[in-house]
Amino acid sequence: MTPNYDLSEEHELIRRTVRDFAVERVMPVAEELDREHRFPYDLVRELAELGLMGMTIPEEYGGAGTDTLSYAIAVEELTRVDSSVAITVAAHHSLGTLPIFLFGNEEQKRELLPPLASGEKLAAFGLTEPDAGSDAGATRTRAELRDGQWVINGSKMFITNAGTDITACVTITAVTGEDEISNIIVPNGVEGYEIALPMQKVGWRASDTRELSFRDVRVPEANLLGPRGKGFQQFLEILDGGRISVAAMGVGLAQGAYDLAFQYAKDRRQFGRPIAEFQAVQFTLADMATEIEAGRSMVYKAAWLKDQGRAFGKEAAMAKLYTGELSNRAANAALQIHGGYGFMDEFPISRLYRDQKILEIGEGTNEVQRMVIAKHLGL
Ligand SMILES: Cc1cc2nc3c(=O)[nH]c(=O)nc-3n(C[C@H](O)[C@H](O)[C@H](O)COP(=O)(O)OP(=O)(O)OC[C@H]3O[C@@H](n4cnc5c(N)ncnc54)[C@H](O)[C@@H]3O)c2cc1C
Repeated sequence: MTPNYDLSEEHELIRRTVRDFAVERVMPVAEELDREHRFPYDLVRELAELGLMGMTIPEEYGGAGTDTLSYAIAVEELTRVDSSVAITVAAHHSLGTLPIFLFGNEEQKRELLPPLASGEKLAAFGLTEPDAGSDAGATRTRAELRDGQWVINGSKMFITNAGTDITACVTITAVTGEDEISNIIVPNGVEGYEIALPMQKVGWRASDTRELSFRDVRVPEANLLGPRGKGFQQFLEILDGGRISVAAMGVGLAQGAYDLAFQYAKDRRQFGRPIAEFQAVQFTLADMATEIEAGRSMVYKAAWLKDQGRAFGKEAAMAKLYTGELSNRAANAALQIHGGYGFMDEFPISRLYRDQKILEIGEGTNEVQRMVIAKHLGL
């Protein structure tokens, strides 16, 4: 069969819908939300109405039942305009909600998924700890089973969406025995579960990032997610899929930076002509466009493999690594094209520049992606 690089009509419709939403609803408020470090509650409500908060969750659990490629396109289009809004959607969907869909029993799914998949509530994913970052298996948080309850002690670091007014729960990894890590769902509001104030960040300033602490937190035994002792493997599986989201963010951010630089180069005049007429600027834009095309193909292929039910871990890690570094080059080059104006807060490229760096750190640093890829290569 001849390969087909055209997106389906349905995928194109999703792209148009999300692009219109990003331009009409997100773009006018993105700078203000970032400046005020304000969580985008109103936008989350609108995204929920559009069915964008639980895209790949089946309709019977309150989601939209789309494929992964549709979801990647939506995340790309949101990031093109604003990363804080995009990561709010991506972390909620891929990290917060999917573990419950993939590993929850039928009762947990029926109870927890509808408000999450519909976007009425948010969920968070608590893997990282102060002393367990790239080495995520070094979890120190402990959960002991006592009288039919898990008693949890420990802490988590940098957890997205954990402390908003509409957060329902966080799923954490915890040591439940010797060499045994399990996943446990902790609802917001239980005694002993403390959520620190939002962290002050270089970028993603309108997204919610928190440090969490658990002191003798008690939750029912039934809050165990998946089989006891399988928690770390489950979270690694979630990270494989999550990398497609972050890779889509890399393409979206690079595309957004390109769009801004392209327009600026046409408008800005020096030496009596638009700077877009200088070959140095043209080559920079040509390189950006080429790399974006390559990065987008990698992301879509990883999403497509996942949708086919085929192995996609290597391709997701490659796409995440490539688009993380691509977005770095693109944001840097786009700001350079803006000259001194790009260094000013009032020009959106400055926000994209700040928002970019975390794409090379979150869900596994560039170095961790290289480790994952090398392992897939048999090294
Ligand atoms: C804004 C934000 C949101 C986040 N959201 C979440 C979330 O929702 N849930 C969650 O669980 N986590 C979240 N994280 C955590 C994120 O996944 C971690 O920051 C990331 O995995 C890196 O861990 P670390 O920060 O502890 O860095 P470290 O692991 O301490 O790494 C420091 C440096 O050492 C390098 N390094 C470490 N080990 C090796 C090695 N073996 N070989 C080569 N180099 C190595 C790293 O690549 C890096 O350059 C978030 C982080 C941020 C900043």
